[in-house]
Amino acid sequence: MARAVGVFGGAFAPFHNGHLRLAIEARERLALDQVRLIPTAHPPHRPDSHVLPARRLEWIKLAIRRERGLIADDREIRRDGPSYTVDTLVELRAQFPQAVLVLLMGSDAFQHLHTWYRWTELLELAHLAVVSRPGSLLEPSVETCALLAARRADDIGALMQSRKGRWFQFEVPMLDISSTRIRRLLRAGHSVRGLVPDAILDAMTAADVAALIQDDDATPT
Ligand code: ATP
Ligand code: MG
Repeated sequence: MARAVGVFGGAFAPFHNGHLRLAIEARERLALDQVRLIPTAHPPHRPDSHVLPARRLEWIKLAIRRERGLIADDREIRRDGPSYTVDTLVELRAQFPQAVLVLLMGSDAFQHLHTWYRWTELLELAHLAVVSRPGSLLEPSVETCALLAARRADDIGALMQSRKGRWFQFEVPMLDISSTRIRRLLRAGHSVRGLVPDAILDAMTAADVAALIQDDDATPT
């Protein structure tokens, strides 16, 4: 039974080496038994990707093959309605009642936390661990400050003393990679090797690329 579970959601359109490194470093640095990678199926804050969620899940599976402790999780694909993270955490809390749950995200997502559905409940279900992303602040936004200020954990030990309720910042060597930048390169007919795991690139079809390049820009880079 897992004692510490990382939860990492995103559009993953496509999954890239920035995502992969975040998941691996989080698993190793926070001593998580597993990190669950969860592609969002009906994101509430942005248009659905033109790439079907099942295809994005397949890409994750290709990227994490033989990487210990990373799991592709299809729960948001199986669920109807908007993919709210709070619902995902409620499910995971029921599945792992005794485990430390850690919701992983980049600093750009952290800055928008207050726009998430029932965001104040997230810390009642899990911890939050945030990594810096080039170009975005790693401090609670004005809107989240009151709730988060007293809940900051200074080190991993402090985080792991409870199953939920704290937030923590950890550094990973920054990779200035975003799916938006990858889609832009693809749109211009450029190579994205080195940004996207080879196993994904080797499986990517012309139809995949055609779908990806229809997605809107999301991350300003
Ligand atoms: P897009 O440009 O389409 O928004 P993205 O690269 O931001 O794509 P998402 O699927 O939106 O990827 O992000 C999922 C999660 O991964 C978010 O928490 C985001 O902050 C984090 N993330 C994405 N890229 C990086 C990176 N290079 N370093 C650290 N975190 C990242
Ligand atoms: Mg993004």
